[in-house]
Amino acid sequence: MAKRGMSQSILKIDTNAIYNNWQSLDKKSAKNVETAAVIKADAYGLSTKNIASYLAFKNVKTFFVAIAEEGIGARKAVGNDADIFVFSGQMENDAAIIKEYNLIPLLNSADQYHQFQINSPNQKFGIQLDTGMNRLGMEGIEFSSLDENMSNACLIMSHLACADEPNHSQNLKQLRTFHHLTDDLKIRKSLSATGGILLGPEYHFDLCRPGIGLYGGLPYDTALPVIKLSIPVIQSRTVFAGETVGYGGQWRAKTDTRVATISAGYADGLIRAIGNGQLLLYHGDVGCPLIGRVSMDLITVDITQLEDTPRSLDLINKIQTVDIIANAANTIGYEILTSLGARYAREYIKG
Ligand SMILES: *Cc1c(COP(=O)(O)O)cnc(C)c1O
Repeated sequence: MAKRGMSQSILKIDTNAIYNNWQSLDKKSAKNVETAAVIKADAYGLSTKNIASYLAFKNVKTFFVAIAEEGIGARKAVGNDADIFVFSGQMENDAAIIKEYNLIPLLNSADQYHQFQINSPNQKFGIQLDTGMNRLGMEGIEFSSLDENMSNACLIMSHLACADEPNHSQNLKQLRTFHHLTDDLKIRKSLSATGGILLGPEYHFDLCRPGIGLYGGLPYDTALPVIKLSIPVIQSRTVFAGETVGYGGQWRAKTDTRVATISAGYADGLIRAIGNGQLLLYHGDVGCPLIGRVSMDLITVDITQLEDTPRSLDLINKIQTVDIIANAANTIGYEILTSLGARYAREYIKG
């Protein structure tokens, strides 16, 4: 096997921490409530192949992907026993994939429902309702217009728009609408993702669908951190007082400064907006300020306080979590995670 080059960053992904987060989220609901795993966007950028296979091995029974094509990799990862639901339902031309990989589409319009009855009779499906988010799913009126051949329906679900704000009045409104639309049905029900699980048992129904909480992100604030990103130092220099560093000459040294240049940048998902003076690069527990603009492949760091130039510095670790990175860039952990690029050497920690 080829040795890893010395300028490749290492992204360590703690698969066992993901499973621990799944377990602790599962414990928040009653025993008869199932906890699934959302693995859309390649398990939030962390690899369906590695993560979903481990969760399935640990007996997670139900998975959710966004589009039919993601179901192919998901099926290969989880084996034939688990259920895989597709949020976008069955779009035109999806029927073959859905059938071949035994996926369950969450039909989200009367039109999808009718097409499915014609193209895929006797196959399992779920129904996705819109209860106020106005993004994806059938409106109540649309749903009640369906002929009631629901014998192959195995899940009826909706999604909360404001679950990360526990006191938001829309949560209760959507809960009531969901009850109103589904109370008479003898189909398994699901309303909650990570945020909804934390709202409490009345939001849990039969099945919860956490994504971000598994991967260590807010709103699950007691999640175990899942990733560590170590970026090699590829050069260091002394920048004399008055000199500048990086594009635009934006950062200017007030005193003589040791500057390390590390080998990752916005092409690796470390978006330019993180370079606003708030973040640190860690050598063990010691944080060194990120200085200058983030460029495509490189970031510059003030390491004056370190005695020696380290071989690498950590941008994401237990101290500086994905959400801290996100906050510095005025975005959310979901976006940072799903942006992490293809150039990292990824190492998966298991059991
Ligand atoms: C992404 C998604 C989830 C998972 O949401 P998290 O906030 O990541 O837990 C659940 N349900 C639907 C419909 C989604 O789109």
